[in-house]
Amino acid sequence: MKKMPLPSQQLERRKTPRRHEDRSLPNFQDMVEGAVQGILIHSNFKPLFVNNAFARLFGYDKPEELLALPLIRPLFPAELWPEIELEYNRFIRGDTSTQISRMMGTGRDGTDIWLSTTKRIIDWHGTPAVQITAFDISKQVAMEQLLLGNEQQLRGILEILPVPIYIARRRDGKLLFVNRKTCLLLQQGAGAMLRSSSEQFFVDQEDRSKIHMMIDSVPDVREIEVKMRTAQGREFMAELAAIRIIYGEQPAMLVSLNDISERKKMEAELFHQANTDSLTGLSNRRYFMIQAEQEIRRAHRFSRALSVIMMDLDHFKHINDTYGHAAGDIALETIVKASLESLRESDIMGRLGGEEFAILLPETSLEAASEVASRLLTNIAQTPIPTGKKVIHCTTSLGVAELRSTDSSIDELLCRADDALFVSKENGRNRATLGQ
Ligand code: GH3
Ligand code: MG
Ligand code: MG
Repeated sequence: MKKMPLPSQQLERRKTPRRHEDRSLPNFQDMVEGAVQGILIHSNFKPLFVNNAFARLFGYDKPEELLALPLIRPLFPAELWPEIELEYNRFIRGDTSTQISRMMGTGRDGTDIWLSTTKRIIDWHGTPAVQITAFDISKQVAMEQLLLGNEQQLRGILEILPVPIYIARRRDGKLLFVNRKTCLLLQQGAGAMLRSSSEQFFVDQEDRSKIHMMIDSVPDVREIEVKMRTAQGREFMAELAAIRIIYGEQPAMLVSLNDISERKKMEAELFHQANTDSLTGLSNRRYFMIQAEQEIRRAHRFSRALSVIMMDLDHFKHINDTYGHAAGDIALETIVKASLESLRESDIMGRLGGEEFAILLPETSLEAASEVASRLLTNIAQTPIPTGKKVIHCTTSLGVAELRSTDSSIDELLCRADDALFVSKENGRNRATLGQ
């Protein structure tokens, strides 16, 4: 290749050269010829300088082969030329000084080559010329196109899935994709949804930010229960799963939704059935014991008072025997209702079996519990019980005990209350006894 001085070399020459510097610095022309980046200088598309890397980028063995071209037209596809010429004129007029762009080149064998180019206007021996530095980004572009193709495929797959799925931008929750099932669940058309963010569908915005925070630290989250709201305002419980993805070159999350309102309702119903006594609606023995253990733990942890009242109806067998089992049931319901009216919201009453009950009184000392017991005795004794034949009254015996710091379980506490109840029965019934 014919060695022509580069403009920067000319500048160098104008300076007074220092011998030792000349020896230590590599020759500039050698440097650009050996550069990894392709360099081409042209004036009105006539090639003036080409380095090895540029020639190789386009599949030529030597820069001379390119320099032999009258114009560099074969290096870029015909459809790009109007734009390339406009750009050149902008450089010559001085409207543009540097231009960084991605463009397609044509290799010697006609293949497309994607290039990242930087173009700038330079002075070439007094003539304005354009210097193009370029490197091959074909692999990167191919990968991007593959991803783009995959995105189209992904959308196709998500669209036919029978599960509501959406893709939201992680930065602000803007919806980037929604499938048909999402539109049906959230009662809004895809067009309107893609103009908005996922924000409107979360009842509690804290839930939404929590999910965003989680997905920032882990690649996927599952089985998150959140309260959501459709565009029409219907609230429902959703089970949500999300994975971190890149969509449209943006950090995004793919979210699948499952309306679990029915399941939640059924679970609540089953929980109620398993833990409640059907006649009185009170906690059954099993569940009362769980609640009692919880209350004991809480009382111990915060050093709070806790009392319990054991209750057994007096001569209940007599009511059953005289007025029938159905009247006995009515009596049980009526007495429970009267008892609840004598208690606070926070008190927990359970049916331990037959006509035996227990009442947990949180934040209540023995003294205060004894007052509650007196109120219960009075209210129950005064409550009329309709039996069908005639209205009767029923009394009850109570045993009261307070939690001690040494009590480790509900059994010890209930045992003391039970002993006290026995004393009440012994002493003639319709009375309360305080446990030791
Ligand atoms: P005491 O004053 O000594 O407690 O006498 P009591 O008759 O209440 O004692 P006992 O334990 O002998 O009788 C309890 C009765 O409660 C026996 C049983 O038929 C009745 N009972 C238990 N559960 C139910 C129920 O669900 N419905 C009805 N109608 N009766 C029940
Ligand atoms: Mg009884
Ligand atoms: Mg009994």
